Amino acid sequence: MARTLDPQLRRALVERVRFCHEMGIYDFYRRDFDRDGPRLSESAENESTAGIVAASSSLPQLELREEMSARKSAVVPSIAEKNTLEIVSSKPESGVADPVAALKLIREDLGDCTRCKLHQLGRQQIVFGVGNPRAELMFVGEGPGADEDAQGEPFVGRAGQLLNNMIKAMGLRREDVYIANIVKCRPPGNRQPERDECDTCSPFLMRQIATVKPKAMVALGATAAKNLLALNAPMAELRGRWYDFKPAGSDPAWPGARLAVTYHPAFLLRDPRQKGEAWKDLQMVMKYLGIEPPKKAAE
Ligand code: SF4
Repeated sequence: MARTLDPQLRRALVERVRFCHEMGIYDFYRRDFDRDGPRLSESAENESTAGIVAASSSLPQLELREEMSARKSAVVPSIAEKNTLEIVSSKPESGVADPVAALKLIREDLGDCTRCKLHQLGRQQIVFGVGNPRAELMFVGEGPGADEDAQGEPFVGRAGQLLNNMIKAMGLRREDVYIANIVKCRPPGNRQPERDECDTCSPFLMRQIATVKPKAMVALGATAAKNLLALNAPMAELRGRWYDFKPAGSDPAWPGARLAVTYHPAFLLRDPRQKGEAWKDLQMVMKYLGIEPPKKAAE
């Protein structure tokens, strides 16, 4: 028979889960100690029947959702049962069928975010994401630049104009797709977002992806690709193939997206010779989505 948690342990668990919720993380996993690690004491095993494994002498060993990686999520052993503790509540957008309303709830949950240091490094505003909340195709870039920071919308500068041209060349309109970034605040000096910033911000992106439920995704550039896939490989290896992508904890009825990698439009502005290669990547996406090849290739 399941035992109740020790009150002190329970309080510690409540605090930790509250902290995780504050960070936008709502899904937890039970670590499979039997197969991959030290075997639980009998009392801990009993506690695990409550849905969350707790080591007998320390804080509960919550496995935070590995939202960064579709690859990693595939090996997560099991999902903690819902409602096993009243403190493990649903995401605000859980059960909200309308993606417009769900995205609004995620935005509200993000709030005037100060979760990572980018909030105090000169950002003007948070750049959440834009586009069709029911898009079949989603583009994910690295982070906002100066124009995006000023306008509060991703990909609106010169690189954004090129992305618009790429989308148009695919036979789509910008408003047909959904566009977001790994981090939602502008890194100073247009530097790459740092690992801790990506890790802190990406749970919200994962929730956006799980809400939009695109059929296909395109990671724009190495930073986006590496963060989404948790793969540290050069672009030459990342491009030209599909990856299965499904954020952990997303709707079981959604099969997930297929993810392709291509060059970031800002890189293409610096090296236009690579546009042909990027076009090959987009053609792969068009074929998968059943989009008729347009008459003209991307400029
Ligand atoms: S980059 Fe993301 S986590 Fe960091 S402050 Fe901005 S919204 Fe918050």
